[in-house]
Amino acid sequence: MPELPEVETTVSSLRKKALKRAFVRVWDEKGEKELKNIIRRRVESVERFGKGIFLFLDNEKVLFIHLRMTGHLLFGNWEMKKNTITGKEEWKSKEKIMQERKNGFLRYVFFLDNGKQLALSDPRKFAKVALFSKKEAKVYIEKLGPDPLLLGKNEFIDLFKGRKKKIKTLLMDQQFVSGIGNIYAAEILFKAKINPAKNASLLTEKEIEKIYDFTQSILKKAIKLQGDSTSDYRHLDGKKGKYQNHHLVYQRKGKDCFDCGEIIKKTVLGGRGTYHCPRCQKDKE
Ligand SMILES: [Zn+2]
Repeated sequence: MPELPEVETTVSSLRKKALKRAFVRVWDEKGEKELKNIIRRRVESVERFGKGIFLFLDNEKVLFIHLRMTGHLLFGNWEMKKNTITGKEEWKSKEKIMQERKNGFLRYVFFLDNGKQLALSDPRKFAKVALFSKKEAKVYIEKLGPDPLLLGKNEFIDLFKGRKKKIKTLLMDQQFVSGIGNIYAAEILFKAKINPAKNASLLTEKEIEKIYDFTQSILKKAIKLQGDSTSDYRHLDGKKGKYQNHHLVYQRKGKDCFDCGEIIKKTVLGGRGTYHCPRCQKDKE
């Protein structure tokens, strides 16, 4: 699932491509009527809150896009064409990269006033697209925990007061901090040398400081590498990010720990696959 670095990468490209542009047409698989209200509206600003993308329009409305599990946005040109084999109408792009499988599941196509299109490809159809009022957007944003990159160390330490969840589950809780998911939680805890199953209430201040420091450095590194494309995430131009080439533990089950040589273990924590080094991140306290 796209997390903070992936959504941040998409949002910064969106600013370059869609800012000040107006929508002239919208197509969506389900034919939602409400989305037609974006036509003739101009994009005033593009923001990320947590893992959500918010396009603020010039009419008190906000186009909200959450990529969820397998969604990603693309920028290019597509034409509706009949598939000669199945007889079905399909969006086709002349660009080779847009013909790659992961880029071919278009659920929404937004037409801009410069002849370009913004499309949402989403193999598993979990992504959410909605038209919010500014007030609804505000309510949504206020429910989210703070952005980890905008937090000071002391504020971060304060967040842990009274928290009793397992640390990895807590880091992934969007009401605790927003933007961290399964990949980066595993990577951060490996760097901090903390077992993902450790109860947050047992963490020392020093350990929380380490989590803070590596949250900052890993998320920033991942933004620099333009996100992680282990799964379906792609950039607006259809290309892959690079963080997947830098994994420390994530999806490295059975491989050697880079720090101690121990075999990386996969467990299930809170229903999610979790990777850690049983030696560096002591299994037993
Ligand atoms: Zn190790």
